[in-house]
Amino acid sequence: MRALVLDASHTPLRVTELPDPVPEPGQLLLRVRACGVCRTDLHVVDGDLVRPKLPLVLGHQVVGEVVEGGGRFAAGERVGVPWLGWTCGVCRFCVVGAENLCDRARFTGYDVDGGYAELAVADERFCFPIPESYGDEQAAPLLCAGLIGYRSLRLSGDPERIGLYGFGASAHIVCQVAVAQGRQVYAGTRAGDEEGQAFARSLGAEWAGGSGEAPPELLEAAIIFAPVGALIPAALRASAKGATIVCAGIHMSDIPAFPYELLWGERAVRSVANLTRRDGEELLAVAPRVPVRTEVLTIRCGRRIRRLQSCAAVAFAVQRC
Ligand SMILES: [Zn+2]
Ligand SMILES: [Zn+2]
Repeated sequence: MRALVLDASHTPLRVTELPDPVPEPGQLLLRVRACGVCRTDLHVVDGDLVRPKLPLVLGHQVVGEVVEGGGRFAAGERVGVPWLGWTCGVCRFCVVGAENLCDRARFTGYDVDGGYAELAVADERFCFPIPESYGDEQAAPLLCAGLIGYRSLRLSGDPERIGLYGFGASAHIVCQVAVAQGRQVYAGTRAGDEEGQAFARSLGAEWAGGSGEAPPELLEAAIIFAPVGALIPAALRASAKGATIVCAGIHMSDIPAFPYELLWGERAVRSVANLTRRDGEELLAVAPRVPVRTEVLTIRCGRRIRRLQSCAAVAFAVQRC
């Protein structure tokens, strides 16, 4: 099969031929129809995440057609493969439904090969059926940008006014879900990013401005999608007592020191790590009902992957060759 391979961090992906993967018992063999590009993929390429399997096929927002089925899925069905590729099922996290924290978890496109290839294999138990109303490329961003965003929204409490810092792939999905739930969304973008702010307003955001600006109302919760530690004190400053600030990214620059007063009033700062299968099942049931529409830019693989760096803020799908 043709595949895009990462040989070492800080190097461009290489288009090459690899032997076709052979599914193990319990795994599906998939023909990849589209694979979304996630900010995490860029963190792996940039060496921010330090233990990828190498060489590695990246990509953990995989929409594939089942070639060899098993379990719940027959040949010809369309399935999604997310970041969470396997968990042990017996550790203290797994047994209480916190499989996202499993120490032995294997992640797609990091510990095992992902979807930047013509074929992929995936553990059937961690795959999701793709809602019929979505095209392949439109479904791909739901599988990580959507799932992590949805988990972050769920863990933000039940806010009436929620801030989204960094309005990219995740936020553009979460914004639509939050608005459909009757929440007011306040979007923070890079200073002066008027296009991003207009995009947020077009998706129902009540207000959009620079991340450093104070929103017109105090926030009851905020989700930080941008990998920028300085946004934590900024979000605390913009939040009401009792607010939860959720950090949704897998990597973030250091958080600058800030006065305790910003945290006082039972404000909380927490991270969200990975996803559980429950998050996936819930989002993929909710998304078609909203209905969430994803903005994608389709890039045929084989183009230089470095191009993606410049487009990291939007949701993508890489179509199969
Ligand atoms: Zn476990
Ligand atoms: Zn991701």
